[in-house]
Amino acid sequence: MDFNPELNEDQLQIQQWVHDFASEVVRPAAADWDEREETPWPIIKEAAEIGLYSWEFMAEAMMNDPTGLTMPVALEELFWGDAGIGLSIMGSGLAAAGIAASGTPEQVMEWVPQCYGTPEDLMLGAFASSEPDAGSDVAAIRTRAVYEESTDEWVINGTKTWITNGGIADVHVVVAVVDPELGSRGHASFVIPPGNSGLSQGQKFKKHGIRASHTAEVVLTECRIPGNCVLGGKDKLEERLARVREGKSGNAQAAMQTFESTRPAVGAQAVGIARAAYEYSLEYAKERRQFGRPIIQNQSIAFMLADMAMEIDAARALVWRGAWLGKHKKYRNAEGSMAKLKAGRVAVWATERAIQILGGYGYVRDYPVERWHRDAKIYDIFEGTEQIQQLVISRAISGMRIE
Ligand SMILES: Cc1cc2nc3c(=O)[nH]c(=O)nc-3n(C[C@H](O)[C@H](O)[C@H](O)COP(=O)(O)OP(=O)(O)OC[C@H]3O[C@@H](n4cnc5c(N)ncnc54)[C@H](O)[C@@H]3O)c2cc1C
Repeated sequence: MDFNPELNEDQLQIQQWVHDFASEVVRPAAADWDEREETPWPIIKEAAEIGLYSWEFMAEAMMNDPTGLTMPVALEELFWGDAGIGLSIMGSGLAAAGIAASGTPEQVMEWVPQCYGTPEDLMLGAFASSEPDAGSDVAAIRTRAVYEESTDEWVINGTKTWITNGGIADVHVVVAVVDPELGSRGHASFVIPPGNSGLSQGQKFKKHGIRASHTAEVVLTECRIPGNCVLGGKDKLEERLARVREGKSGNAQAAMQTFESTRPAVGAQAVGIARAAYEYSLEYAKERRQFGRPIIQNQSIAFMLADMAMEIDAARALVWRGAWLGKHKKYRNAEGSMAKLKAGRVAVWATERAIQILGGYGYVRDYPVERWHRDAKIYDIFEGTEQIQQLVISRAISGMRIE
């Protein structure tokens, strides 16, 4: 199948469906939830009632789409509505994706639905990798999982930080060290089932942007989970560790494709924020009059908007290309990282330009553009910082070890 940027009927319908939800439900509520800095449960519930917050939608969008474009299209629309609320709706997807990437089919069937629950009984998922001393440097993770033969349990101890839905989630997927000698190859992912008394929420962070999304520390103290909660199963884990100990590299190529393929979806979220700011400032520039004419009739304003339109289209093109290549396992030059890097930068730049176009009105909370600018900055930081994406790309294009 060739790359084709023309959306099919199903994709156009999903785009319109998510857009309607974003414009009728999400955007009108955005300023309020940003101020409250709380998880927007009523909006998640509405998203669940229409089927947007559901594992079925995630599975349909991810698996029954040979083009890879459905998810980025849906995400752009939702995050056009609001990124904080968007992440509250999509945050569980991080846990679901972690389970789908490493779990057995039985584990996927058991745990992914529990990341979402039902409209009557909402549940959340969280994916916990980062630690206070292990952000970009994933190999430095210290959370330790030890297998206890006598009880057939894993005992996990450690502290995770910056975790989306951390502590309030029902299902936590936690990355921990099982063999400290092996660096990042000695890690494994575990499901912590709901209601485990060994897991608690630490500090909840007050953030610069995406404030409707809950971000907190997760503390694991003698956290005991059944032996079968290691994703992929214990036998597979033992086999993998044995291969690494023998000096065989494991499946580094496959792991790299998996990481790469999640990045365009994050880029799509950033494109949604950038487009919101561009559309708003374009309309504003046509309405706002100074010196007896609309400000857009000054080239300096009109050219800013022309550049914004072009950069947003360029970012979206990279996101769609990255999503398509990911679906077909055809990455060569870290095109997933390119998509995320470009989209994050464009979102930060375009939202800053939007503030400029609105002048003083852009700087105050009565207008949404300052919020979009605050929201956009996270896209240079999470899911791999700007510099880490550059590192991945430079290693891919050079084939050399760049430090
Ligand atoms: C709102 C929010 C939500 C998050 N959600 C989650 C989540 O759900 N789950 C989760 O596991 N994590 C989550 N994170 C963590 C996020 O992924 C990390 O913040 C990110 O990976 C960066 O790690 P760090 O903050 O420790 O920064 P550091 O790694 O300390 O980086 C600091 C600076 O140094 C640069 N740097 C580091 N190493 C290099 C290098 N080798 N070369 C060049 N520059 C380098 C970085 O680019 C950055 O500019 C979230 C973070 C935030 C803020």
